[in-house]
Amino acid sequence: MTIAPTAVDPFLRAAFEEAVTGYNNGGLPIGSVLVRNGEIIGRGHNRRVQDGNPILHAEMSCFQNAGRLAPSVYRECTIYSTLSPCYMCGGAMLLFGVPRVIIGESRTVEAADNFLRSQGLEVTVLDDPACYELMQRFTREQPAIWAEDVGDAGISRHGVVIPSRP
Ligand SMILES: [Zn+2]
Repeated sequence: MTIAPTAVDPFLRAAFEEAVTGYNNGGLPIGSVLVRNGEIIGRGHNRRVQDGNPILHAEMSCFQNAGRLAPSVYRECTIYSTLSPCYMCGGAMLLFGVPRVIIGESRTVEAADNFLRSQGLEVTVLDDPACYELMQRFTREQPAIWAEDVGDAGISRHGVVIPSRP
């Protein structure tokens, strides 16, 4: 299936292309790229279904693909994700010291956006229509898969208090 991206930002487009690849392989349509000095140095998409791996969210897959990097490199990076990052992936951003995250959309679910802001990250939400439409399509088509973590667990199940925007 071909799904046209609408993102103007070329890096969000690349993350969206990752999301579409995941979707076309039966997985969750969430993609991520790691950008340094205008260049993509890592990319990935959620592989929970494809690999049977619950921790390979898009951002974790992206970090894995980028390989080992020096702290000085992470500090110069921006990570893109087509969907609001969860606390695991947000935790990895904090662990590695990535200072900026650009999010395709936080309408389907808003997870760690405000938590990351509260920790000093620069968080930008582009509210991209294609990212939103693709997630909406997936949650309609595969509600059980969506419900396995972000959709019906963790923050939404236990009502974790999300820090308000500083
Ligand atoms: Zn995640």
